[in-house]
Amino acid sequence: MASTAPSDSDIQTTSRGFCCTLCHVNLPNLPSVDQHVKGRKHRTLSTVRSTRKSHEERSVFVSGIKPEVSQTDLTEYFQQFGAVTDVIVDKDRGLYAIVQFGESESIQAALSCAEHRLKGLRLRVKPREKKEFKLIPKKKNDPQNLQRIFDRLKPELCQLPSVDSQMKFIVERLQLGENEKKARGLVVQLLQEVFVEFFPDSQILLFGSSVNTFGFHACDLDLFLDLENTKTFQAKAKTSTEQAGEGMSDDGRSEDSILSDIDLSTASPAEVLELVATILRRCVPSVHKVHVVSSARLPVVKFHHRELNLQGDITLNNRLGVRNTRFLQLLSGAEERLRPLVFAIRYWARQKHLAGNPSGAGPLLNNYALTLLMVFFLQNSQPAVLPTVDQLRDMACEEEECVIEGWNCTFPSQPIAVPPSKNTQDLCSLLAGFFSFYAHFDFASSVISLREGRALPVASFLSQDKDDERMQEEQPSKSDPHRPKLGPLNLLDPFELSHNVAGNLNERSLRNLQKECQEAEKYCRSLRYQRKSTKGKSWGLARLFAPPGDVQQAKPEQLVISIPFSSASLPEVLRTELHSAGDAFRQLWFQKVCSAVEIVLRTVLKCHLDASAAAVLSEDSAVGVEEMETTASSLNDSTQSVESLSESSPQCAAAAGAKRPLSSGSDSSVSPRGKKPRLAGRGKPEFPLWTCVQKHMVWLGRRKVRRELMKDTDCRPEGSCMELESQVSASIAEKEPELKEPLEFKVCPQMVGGAENTRALLKLRPSSDEAGIFQDFFHFLEAFLPKMVETVLEKGAGSA
Ligand code: ATP
Ligand code: MG
Repeated sequence: MASTAPSDSDIQTTSRGFCCTLCHVNLPNLPSVDQHVKGRKHRTLSTVRSTRKSHEERSVFVSGIKPEVSQTDLTEYFQQFGAVTDVIVDKDRGLYAIVQFGESESIQAALSCAEHRLKGLRLRVKPREKKEFKLIPKKKNDPQNLQRIFDRLKPELCQLPSVDSQMKFIVERLQLGENEKKARGLVVQLLQEVFVEFFPDSQILLFGSSVNTFGFHACDLDLFLDLENTKTFQAKAKTSTEQAGEGMSDDGRSEDSILSDIDLSTASPAEVLELVATILRRCVPSVHKVHVVSSARLPVVKFHHRELNLQGDITLNNRLGVRNTRFLQLLSGAEERLRPLVFAIRYWARQKHLAGNPSGAGPLLNNYALTLLMVFFLQNSQPAVLPTVDQLRDMACEEEECVIEGWNCTFPSQPIAVPPSKNTQDLCSLLAGFFSFYAHFDFASSVISLREGRALPVASFLSQDKDDERMQEEQPSKSDPHRPKLGPLNLLDPFELSHNVAGNLNERSLRNLQKECQEAEKYCRSLRYQRKSTKGKSWGLARLFAPPGDVQQAKPEQLVISIPFSSASLPEVLRTELHSAGDAFRQLWFQKVCSAVEIVLRTVLKCHLDASAAAVLSEDSAVGVEEMETTASSLNDSTQSVESLSESSPQCAAAAGAKRPLSSGSDSSVSPRGKKPRLAGRGKPEFPLWTCVQKHMVWLGRRKVRRELMKDTDCRPEGSCMELESQVSASIAEKEPELKEPLEFKVCPQMVGGAENTRALLKLRPSSDEAGIFQDFFHFLEAFLPKMVETVLEKGAGSA
């Protein structure tokens, strides 16, 4: 493929590819540069940079002011030089300000004025310093910083006598310190005092890890600004003002308060948050970097406290957050093993880059979700370490009943009400159990319910109607039930049952999570985990927590393409079909995927599928049926995974030798056998096997051909349109010469699920590759096939 230099000036060529100097990321090749430049991070930073530049070009730096000079004074004074769009006063000392004009010409007018006098003060006005825009990496997640902390922790951990003592040590070392807690208390008190001035009777409440007992040193400060009482206050003030005619309310506050500008009963959350942000910016000392994130599920005002180096978040309408914090506090008080276990997995996940999105957004787990995963595992250990949320509800007394936004949030207020667990396992084995549990967990086909303490089948969430009925039964008071946003990991909030707390995860982050659980499970089985090393080697948690680079992982390269069962991206029709299939939904999905793969290979990529070799195993296939049946029956068993179908296995041999052709025609409506797939318990499932021949290098130069074919219309992303991709292949086949020796390869599909994440695996093996090009083709297929299969399924063309 012809390579062209990237046009974006932030992209520089390095010895190992490219690097974006704006976002500080290395990019291996041109396609990844292309993707990065179009991506959200790069686009956002470019916009921030140009906005900042434009602000700099339109503003002046003013010194010589005193705290008594207000923002309004400055605005009024500078307006003589042109329209003023913003004035930012240094709120800590009130000695300088930045004045921003609407037009850059106004700057010249202000600068050329010989003397500036305001309220008897002589002001100095200078051009604003132009700073180079730089992205400063967050210290919290700075890899070098994490490495330094770990380097100090490691020798201390290795000296301890057992894993249990290591776990308790981790809590001691990482928890929030007493002084830290006191300082946070003072910040909250200060905020309370400021907010109550603007929002009479409001309350600021702490929630999240600062108070749920799982907070690490320097964790963020989660705050909920409760304005319910302010609304009541405002309503009363309104009535009394109306009765007394125009003027002041009974406490005389409403007239000059910022609040008089906003009616809380009608204001949108975004308006209220903007007001909160303004108050923080102008009235709270040491608070800076204030900004509103209104795109979050719960819009939030973020700020940073300079002296305490503390990140704070203020949300509105977050009673559920306060309640789930109380829930975690209760569990921590009722079961003393929970805290060290949660600390251990929070630290482990941070080290392995599985949790802790630096900006609160992104596709990683957050610590709340991670904690819930630990709680769910402990509900499922034998005997259970923790009760289910339903059981907790039954332990509560009448006064403890609590319903928030229609969700039942009842649980006992005191840990004493929770009977102790009969499980006596130590911390060491419970932690190992956690890894083992999730290493073999079928995330794709489960919805984790802490309320019931079990995994619910995802199929029952695929149909809107049924789902709604279920919700209605559970939450009769909830008038507008929604189904949770399904994704690779479905973890229902313990109270807000329509919310998937891990809905932000993508396939890749789940794959990493499960891979790390598998690695950890393997390690926990070794003596190195369980026993202190007599030779001074790293052992127990010290090795478990090693960052990815510290542990050598040699991975043999396998020619396997994985197609995940992605419930979130299934078309509605297929969702309903799978929903009706109940327990057999996996097989039905697998059949559909097989049909779609065949369409992609044959129709889209113009492979020739050898009909005599490609065959289906059915009731009348004499050879190998028994083994295939064993495999098939294990598909029904939700706790067992399907045995691997290797190329040399009797199943493959049987199928390859079977008489009945997979399909006879070469048209695009090819489906395995043109028959309805048979489901569990109603016959033997069918497994296609393909021998494919490819005569053209259809994987080379596709992007260019696609662009040419699209001409004036917007170029669609690769794999998003079946007709277009077929045309691309046809065009390449027409223009490029045939391969002298066609590439021949076998594709053996296999399904796993139940005791592993549900997915289809396609094992590929070249049988004739004279030109040595199979690897290239395979790498192309690895990315192309899963996307294309999704597109085919969406079109319904994969229907068997
Ligand atoms: P840390 O801040 O130490 O990473 P945390 O438990 O405070 O851990 P945050 O992400 O700050 O986690 O979230 C603060 C609180 O907000 C949580 O304790 C929880 O009450 C609530 N919360 C966070 N994420 C979710 C979510 N996805 N769904 C529902 N509630 C959430
Ligand atoms: Mg937090």
